[in-house]
Parts: sequence; C-alpha cells; structure tokens
Amino acid sequence: MSLCEPPVSPFRPIPRRRLFGFEIDPLSMKQAVAQLRSWVAEDSVRCRFVVTPNVDHAVLLQEHEGLQGAYRDADLVLADGHPLVWASRLLRQKLPERVPGSDLVPRLFDSTNGLGPLKVYLLGAAPGVAERAASNIQKLWPGVKVVGCYSPPLGFEKLPEENEQILWRIADCRPDVLVVGLGAPKQECWVHAHRDQIAAKVALCVGATIDFLANERRRAPRWMQHCGLEWLHRMLSEPRRLVKRYAKDAWVFPQLVLRQMFAPRAG
Ligand code: UDP
Repeated sequence: MSLCEPPVSPFRPIPRRRLFGFEIDPLSMKQAVAQLRSWVAEDSVRCRFVVTPNVDHAVLLQEHEGLQGAYRDADLVLADGHPLVWASRLLRQKLPERVPGSDLVPRLFDSTNGLGPLKVYLLGAAPGVAERAASNIQKLWPGVKVVGCYSPPLGFEKLPEENEQILWRIADCRPDVLVVGLGAPKQECWVHAHRDQIAAKVALCVGATIDFLANERRRAPRWMQHCGLEWLHRMLSEPRRLVKRYAKDAWVFPQLVLRQMFAPRAG
C-alpha cells in the first residue's frame, strides 16, 4: 500500500448480506486486507478463518452440511466470483466488489511493505509445489517469511494421526497466516474441524492459490477475469475435472438467484 493512499478503516461491523442461504461480508479488497492485518497484529487466542465463496460453493452449500457449518462459523466470508457480486446487485444485497482468494493473498503480502515480517505457512498443493511457491514469495515479497510448507497425502483428512502431525508442524512454526489450498469443500471443513488447534492467527481457505504462486497453474488473463470468464479459462485448462461441475453450476445457480428473487420477504 503506498503512503499516499488514504488509510482504510479496518472492518467495521457492516451487516452481512444474506444470499442463497448463507451470509457474505460486504467488504472491498482493501477493507479485507485491513481486517486481516488487524487480526495479525492482535494477540488472539484462537485462529480466525476466512472462506471465499464462488458459484460452485454456493451450489455445493445447498446440500453439504459440513460446508454449511464452516460457512456459519467463518470469521470472514468474501465473494470470490463476479457472478456472486452481480447476483447481489440484482437481489438488492449489494456486495462492493469481488475479493478472490487468489488476489487476497498477494494483496496481503503487498501490505507488508515497511512493516514487520509476516510469517506464513503454506498447506496444500501437490508435493514440491508449495516449496516452489515459497521460493517465489521470498523473491517477490521481502516482508513475508515462509516459515513452513506441507503437502498432505491424499486422504489425509481421514487419518487422525496425520491430522495431528499437521497441527504439530504448524504449531512448531507459529505462523501469522496459514494459507490453505486443499480445494473445496475439503479446506473449509478441515479448517473448521481443527480451528481450535490451529496455531496461526488467521487461516485463509484459498483453493489453487499456492499453485498460482508457484506458477504451476496460470490465472485467466485479466480481461477474462474482468468479464467474469475465469471459470471458462479454468474449465478449458482442466476439462475432464470441471465440465460436469460447471454444467451443474450453470443449471443450479440461476435457480438459486430466481428463488431468492421471488421468495416472500420476511416481516
Ligand atoms: N489439493 C490438495 N490435497 C487434496 C486435494 C486438493 O492439496 O487432498 C490441492 C490441489 O493440489 C490444488 C488445490 O488443492 O492445489 C485445488 O484447488 P482448486 O481451487 O482447483 O480446487 P477446487 O476447489 O476448484 O476443486
């Protein structure tokens, strides 16, 4: 953040917007970063956690109780995708802008400029990827110190010993920020289940962000992001995994918008 920019007020208790059966914090990117910085500066006893819903999460949330629980207890819920912001305007529950997890992490790192080192732990992505992300982070952001990274084996979440090990690894490094890239809904459910034992100030559930930081995967070009076409870029780069998912999202999400639009208002 440059010195000329006006200070951004940290998170005031702005009422959450209720959309598609869950609540979203109507924060801008600057406000979200300011909120994270103020949590990192605090001597908190528990780990706060942040989720970043997109259309796919909104659809998944309709039937996934674990994800619903995680969303209910999340300290910050930030709209990752353009379609959520557009729908929020249509439904008069206005969100100021999208705050994608994959932008939030670099913007948080930018905010370390001139401040004390921000200690970060990277959890997730394929073996070796988090290490490459760590080395890129060290080059790009001297104010960020990657204190550890770990790629858990497939199915780790069902193994109590492995979970304990992960929590020990994190506790050993005492990070300010835990970046969790395990995909949805695994990352949200894991952080929710273990939030009382995670020895970090804030955990960010941010999907493929570690892959992006490692240059393992490419983000969509800026113009596609601006037009709300990031999903198309992702689908074309991983068609086998994503075509079915996005087809379901494209069918269900408009129904969620219409259902809320025509729902009788309470009171
Ligand atoms: N991932 C992981 N462990 C798992 C499942 C996924 O580390 O058990 C990682 C995977 O390597 C990738 C990220 O989680 O880095 C998936 O992110 P993405 O946002 O693509 O997932 P989505 O939520 O879209 O499925």
